[in-house]
Amino acid sequence: MTEIVRSTAAALAERLAAGEVTSTELTEAHLDRIDAVDGAVHAFLHVDRDGALADAAESDARRARGEARGPLDGVPIAVKDVLTTRGLPTTCGSRILEGWIPPYDATVVTRLREAGLPILGKTNMDEFAMGSSTEHSAYGPTRNPWDLDRIPGGSGGGSAAAVAAFEAPLAIGTDTGGSIRQPGAVTGTVGVKPTYGGVSRYGLVALANSLDQAGPVTRTVLDAAMLHDVIGGHDPRDSTSIAQEWPSFTEAARAGSTGDMTGVKVGVITELAGEGWQPGVMARFQESVDLLVKAGAEVVEVSCPSFVHALAAYYLILPAEASSNLAKFDAMRFGLRVVPDGDPSAEEVMRATRDAGFGDEVKRRIILGTYALSSGYYDAYYGQAQKIRTLISRDFDAAFGSVDVLVSPTAPTTAFRLGEKLDDPMAMYLNDLATIPANLAGVPGISVPNGLADEDGLPSGFQVLAPALADDRVYRVGAALEAMYAEQWGGLLLDRAPGLETE
Ligand code: GLN
Repeated sequence: MTEIVRSTAAALAERLAAGEVTSTELTEAHLDRIDAVDGAVHAFLHVDRDGALADAAESDARRARGEARGPLDGVPIAVKDVLTTRGLPTTCGSRILEGWIPPYDATVVTRLREAGLPILGKTNMDEFAMGSSTEHSAYGPTRNPWDLDRIPGGSGGGSAAAVAAFEAPLAIGTDTGGSIRQPGAVTGTVGVKPTYGGVSRYGLVALANSLDQAGPVTRTVLDAAMLHDVIGGHDPRDSTSIAQEWPSFTEAARAGSTGDMTGVKVGVITELAGEGWQPGVMARFQESVDLLVKAGAEVVEVSCPSFVHALAAYYLILPAEASSNLAKFDAMRFGLRVVPDGDPSAEEVMRATRDAGFGDEVKRRIILGTYALSSGYYDAYYGQAQKIRTLISRDFDAAFGSVDVLVSPTAPTTAFRLGEKLDDPMAMYLNDLATIPANLAGVPGISVPNGLADEDGLPSGFQVLAPALADDRVYRVGAALEAMYAEQWGGLLLDRAPGLETE
């Protein structure tokens, strides 16, 4: 493997700035890597070789004129297939959008283009971002580069696997209940869910509008911060976008990488540990906490009693919103249209299309959501869930009244085997136990690799949560932890990932 594809985005940015490498070379190296390994990994649903190389050539020309648009100009990126890309297929991992070419770019994509990042392609995902393993993709699963028989997490397993397999230095994911952080944990990559409203949702095909948030998927905390600086900030096209100036997350990550946590108060969440958690995951978690103490942080235990109801509330709120969002896939406007024999009515065409176009998990959630919203049940289910949501926000407020950040393991287990939980929706849902509260409350979170957590040598992640708008804290603490581990490991955890060598 060329050493280019093993470089972090920050290192690539420096080499581009120094004129040691061109964007065309970088982009070609990653496209070659995709050619070499994606047959096995299946991180991508669509690779845009020509488009990426054309973007790279433009970037090189800009740099030659001294007009680079920022540090990441020329560094290629992969984008989860739930964000619209003008002229490029956008399927959301669903048959129902097969063949649909969006006429517009999501704001995140516009910002990537404006900052000069060539887009390598679109990454695989659970259908409409419903899942924790990427096995619900209608186009077949993505495999975990650490062990091809294991899941890469979900729903953004494609983005995480692309970064973990060195097919892309950077990727964009979306996190509605954990789909950036949980894949990060099980693939040894870094994933950030920004504050709700911190990154525009315009052009992000909605799963659950009140929970969805796009964010960075990378190999280092600094890379995530640099990417966040590119995609974040106010967008008048998203009515929930926060109109404020954000601090530089790059600076926050750089400040954290000195490893000094003096004066930082860390709360360990009582409810997100203990029974049901893989012992190795808990052991790695405890070591991370010990490292933060060593770096000068003050650590206390904090109880968030309503978190035990987060999963139940989420699986009412999410299906409710999803069932309404997915109503627009009606065979008339986008993608697939299945016309039954004879002289079918519009309703019959819709029924046949939705039957053929949606997978089981999507149908399950549409039914659940429609039921939860139906008159007579609305108060008992959706209404109750919203009340729990308020209680969870209050738990966060109370906790952040006494600590700067909250921490937990990101996912309860390391990567499980493909097929292991596919027929057991509850087992699948439990993977997001620790990540869901942040979505319900809109607060930011990061997952940072924190070691190998089982006898098979698979990675686990450490989650850091901060108050809404204080995303800089997750970068500061995440970078500090990463720096301490880098010293211990002599590099990144991913440097120890086995297999996938093609040379
Ligand atoms: N796994 C969770 C779900 O299935 C989270 C999905 C997500 O964040 N997109 O809903």
